[in-house]
Amino acid sequence: MRDRQKITVQGVVQGVGFRPFVYGLASPLGLCGSVRNDITGVVIDVEGDPTCMESFLQALIAEAPLLARIERVRTEKQPLRHYTVFAIEPSKARDDTDVFMVPDVATCAECLREFNRVHDRRYHYPFLNCTSCGPRFTIVSGVPYDRERTTMARFSMCSACQAEYIDPRDRRFHAQPTACPRCGPRLWVADSQGNEIPVDDPCTFIGVRLQQGKIVAVKGLGGYHLSCDALRNDVVQELRRRKQREAKLLAVMVQNLDMARRLCAVSAVEAELLTSARRPIVLLRKRPEYPIAGEVAPQNRDLGVMLPYTPLHHLLLQQTARPLVMTSGDLTEEPIAYQDDDAMRRLAGIADYFLTHDRPIHMHWDDSVTRIVLGKELPVRRSRSYVPLPIRLMIPCTTPILACGAHLKNTFCLVQGTYAFLSQHIGDLEDYRTYRTFVEGIEHFKKLFKIAPQALAYDLHPGYLSSQNALALEELPHIAVQHHHAHIVSCMAENGCEGPVIGVAWDGTGYGNDGRVWGGEFLVASYAAFERLAQLEEVPLPGGVQAIRQPWRMAAVYLHRVYGEEMEELDLDLVHRLDQRGWRVIRQMLVRGVNSPLTSSAGRLFDAIAALIGLRDEMQYEAQAAVELEILANGMRVEAYPFCLHHDGRPMVVETKGIIRGVVDDLLNGGDHGSVRWGGCRDP
Ligand code: ZN
Ligand code: ZN
Repeated sequence: MRDRQKITVQGVVQGVGFRPFVYGLASPLGLCGSVRNDITGVVIDVEGDPTCMESFLQALIAEAPLLARIERVRTEKQPLRHYTVFAIEPSKARDDTDVFMVPDVATCAECLREFNRVHDRRYHYPFLNCTSCGPRFTIVSGVPYDRERTTMARFSMCSACQAEYIDPRDRRFHAQPTACPRCGPRLWVADSQGNEIPVDDPCTFIGVRLQQGKIVAVKGLGGYHLSCDALRNDVVQELRRRKQREAKLLAVMVQNLDMARRLCAVSAVEAELLTSARRPIVLLRKRPEYPIAGEVAPQNRDLGVMLPYTPLHHLLLQQTARPLVMTSGDLTEEPIAYQDDDAMRRLAGIADYFLTHDRPIHMHWDDSVTRIVLGKELPVRRSRSYVPLPIRLMIPCTTPILACGAHLKNTFCLVQGTYAFLSQHIGDLEDYRTYRTFVEGIEHFKKLFKIAPQALAYDLHPGYLSSQNALALEELPHIAVQHHHAHIVSCMAENGCEGPVIGVAWDGTGYGNDGRVWGGEFLVASYAAFERLAQLEEVPLPGGVQAIRQPWRMAAVYLHRVYGEEMEELDLDLVHRLDQRGWRVIRQMLVRGVNSPLTSSAGRLFDAIAALIGLRDEMQYEAQAAVELEILANGMRVEAYPFCLHHDGRPMVVETKGIIRGVVDDLLNGGDHGSVRWGGCRDP
């Protein structure tokens, strides 16, 4: 008995070692035929014993390569051809065959074993990789994906690497970034000015310096990290001082899962995420006996932890045998440094040493940050190793679209068919370098994913650089999208939800259909349209952006709204702290309605409460007050303050006076003002 089938596998199946995997499955089962890539995915023409074919199909799905993401398998019965061998057919070099979708992947277990095997030719080689792991998206400059179109093009393979590369049975078959100490990239050390220091073993040299409390810029996959000993407070303090990053949390890299468990509580799902091929920074709850320097994540219950994801990281962590701070090598709001000259110029005043190498980074990005909420992953920053895997849409998009995103935490998106290719976190477009990343990133994505947008989506806000960029491309039709509608629809798409939904967008600032500043919105939304069902009560923003930077202004605004002139009689810390002259000016603005745009922002309500309870009067970074309020409230038993819903008109209005009154009453009755932090909750 013999059968023949044509099996088509679709999804992320090209450039991930799928063909050698198929070959490895078919041969031992005595199956004959061939495997090849084509425009639809991977096509397997297979012939042999029906029971063996059955096992083959099961294993195809169950044991697929680490990087593969199978979305569809189609089988068709075929007339017998009486094949006698199983062969891997070379890809046709047609330009339209390969949509590149593979993200960078952490060093696999097999490579790590080689890495630690003393007599292996790649023993402790910081750039080893294989078909299942290593750099991908950060080194790719064009398609189709092959070595000439990566930053590995400058290294020509030695004969040993070449032999592995062309052998279909080898786990480095067509591994484009493959390398060894003889033919691959080289690690080197530089002083704080970028001058090379000749050393025999760069990693040992740097390991010792880190143990001595030095700050080192380390070139990673997507850019430079600044690294230092995470156990020493004085060193971390010095890093913060040099980096001018006084407030934000710093991430820590630890050698393995056991070490992560010594620092933080790690659930099974969190452990899975930490050790996954993506290796994101996972926000974990600190243990009480936690040994990390207080300066790493001050006033926070959580710590951002990640495991090594390149051989270089493994080496560094082995050398230092301690947790290391690993924070992106940039000054406060600039994009991550990734080009060597630029990094050495920008980080010269920060790093004592550079640990770097000669494999260029084509596409730079930060580490992804994620956390588990109620057993499910909730990404905070989707970047390295998540991008460019597309989000699968429920409703196919008939027109290819470029969506330009917002201004402050920009990401853009290219949509074609059922795929939405979301860019990495790009950041604040106000910074010129970040803006360049946005513009160049769009071109890069268009090229890699072969998408020629036929329409442009942009945020309604006329001042956003992303919107202006979209409007400048006059030849294509434009679709304006309201900011909070975009938030809610993104959430629907991510969760495969058909809608319509009641969507709640609690945000800082977004341009409304009426030209006002929205931010606390309840929308009845479908993918195409929405109705503003309800909103938070509007309050004035005295001084516009100044009110966003100084939460004390918002606290005063809310108090003035509720108590009128009598607010000045309240025995509250905030009232005692008020700068009398500044307050007089603001009161004038409020009374006359000058320079005080109205907003329904939830962010401003959070700011007001944060200032009211003495948490923060001035911001050092965007959304700081709200972030700190969340940290404080997280895990506490919180009772609700009264609020009132005016449902006679449209949109309905959620009145917030009761909340303010409740917080003030709790503060007044709570005794010691210095220690009262959260009015509504006295027993955590
Ligand atoms: Zn590997
Ligand atoms: Zn080699």
